[in-house]
Amino acid sequence: IDDSWLHLPNPYDVPVEICARADVPVESVAIDELLTVLETADTLRRLGHAVPGLDTEPRLDRVVCTPDFHKGAGIPIGTVLRTVGALIPQAVGNDINCGMRVEATSLTVEQVRPHLDRLERRLRHLFFEGGRRIGLTPRQREGLLREGLPGLLADGVPGGPAARADAGAWRQVGPDDLGDLDGRLHSVGFPVSSADDFQDWITSGGGTSYDSIIGSVGGGNHFAELQYVSRVHDGATAYAWGLTPGQVVLMVHSGSLSLGHQANATGRDQAKAAWPRTVPMPRNRILPMLLDERTATGRQRYLTAFANAANFAIGNRFFLALMMRAGLADISAGELRSRLVYDAPHNLLWPEPDGAVLHRKGATPAGGADGTGRDGGRAWGEPVLVPGSMGAPSHLLRGLGNPRSLGSACHGAGRSVPRGAAARGSDDQLDAFLREFRVVTPLDPGDPTVAGRRDIVDAWRRDLKQEAPWVYKEVGPVVESLRTAGVAEPVVELRPILTVKG
Ligand code: 5GP
Ligand code: MN
Ligand code: MN
Repeated sequence: IDDSWLHLPNPYDVPVEICARADVPVESVAIDELLTVLETADTLRRLGHAVPGLDTEPRLDRVVCTPDFHKGAGIPIGTVLRTVGALIPQAVGNDINCGMRVEATSLTVEQVRPHLDRLERRLRHLFFEGGRRIGLTPRQREGLLREGLPGLLADGVPGGPAARADAGAWRQVGPDDLGDLDGRLHSVGFPVSSADDFQDWITSGGGTSYDSIIGSVGGGNHFAELQYVSRVHDGATAYAWGLTPGQVVLMVHSGSLSLGHQANATGRDQAKAAWPRTVPMPRNRILPMLLDERTATGRQRYLTAFANAANFAIGNRFFLALMMRAGLADISAGELRSRLVYDAPHNLLWPEPDGAVLHRKGATPAGGADGTGRDGGRAWGEPVLVPGSMGAPSHLLRGLGNPRSLGSACHGAGRSVPRGAAARGSDDQLDAFLREFRVVTPLDPGDPTVAGRRDIVDAWRRDLKQEAPWVYKEVGPVVESLRTAGVAEPVVELRPILTVKG
């Protein structure tokens, strides 16, 4: 279309546009995967013919791919998919409401740097060595699953023995967290009438007990990171968001852990149960649910489980931020304040006012300034969080509500080497990286009981190489492509100080 946008011709006549430039190449395997996804246009046509009395002809309306577009499980990461008359659980994926949360602290990078050894030990204890004991009352647990943050915080901050035993996470809640949160999260929660399925599943154990999973980072590319403002591109917006050069910022990337997987499985099961017998199962195994009476009960079950998982994810990011604050409070002699800048989801679906459904899988909302945005619009545009990788800068941008991108941006730099591919990078390269950047993981290679176990340390090194900066695209050109495509404008650059990896 132009230097920033490609049109992908396809046999299904679905409008597909890809935000890409010559210096941010698109993975050809992801294009192949996307062409397979587009077969769903035919599936929807068949469903429309097989089910009489539908109000609207179901169809795949439009697809947008973000600059970090790459191969995923089934539907590629970085896919925004708009349907009419149907929803597609797989277009959200397993980790429902995976997202990023950013807070601006009252500390500067100079204040934090001298204390990194102590901070590292404290965070290791909090995140991985039993320091995380977040006590939730049954009311808080149910409130969180049914309403999100308002439900979790309905009774204020607990002051009982459970809260005192939780090693400080609850103690980090400030008045700012309990005040009016509107506009500082894409959504404070997804109200639903029930949390029954999850309550049962949680109390029955569900593999792991709930109180042991809340406050987990989750594996792979999830993280809790300490960063500082290393560059300001847009002073007015940075000022409005409370960000100044040298300021320490914390960024959390986490999703709904096992709850999202459970909810997505419910979606798949319900779609299968409602599948008309006269329509063959699609070759691409993507099972949409029509928005009609016949699927209503199953759809409701999915959407309730979906909302429970999405609410849990918002709460989990909140607790992870509180744990980071607890670590920082420890090295700052009680001087710490931390304020939410934004919490943004990147695996979610949204019903649109005209009855369509917008799905984002690995894509983040980028609504424009109030009045022009699709959703989440704020005076300066919706904050767009684009992390790079551990060891590389991350970026904060303001959304422009571009209709061509369906108001969406990328949610990261994106992998350039698929997960699971043979480990890249030499041991020397990894060691050089680990000397320069602090990475806190469940395994402490300096622990004498671990240091002697070559097999364990080697496996740890292999895992780290799967997440090292060199398996991700360079984030600079990715951010620049959002700017030239008119999707979002850079506000600040953030450099990493320390990364906690699940
Ligand atoms: P995803 O949501 O697809 O799992 O990944 C989001 C993005 O986070 C990746 O595309 C990558 O750019 C970024 N990322 C992965 N690991 C880290 C990390 O440890 N720190 C930072 N800042 N970014 C990361
Ligand atoms: Mn995730
Ligand atoms: Mn994610």
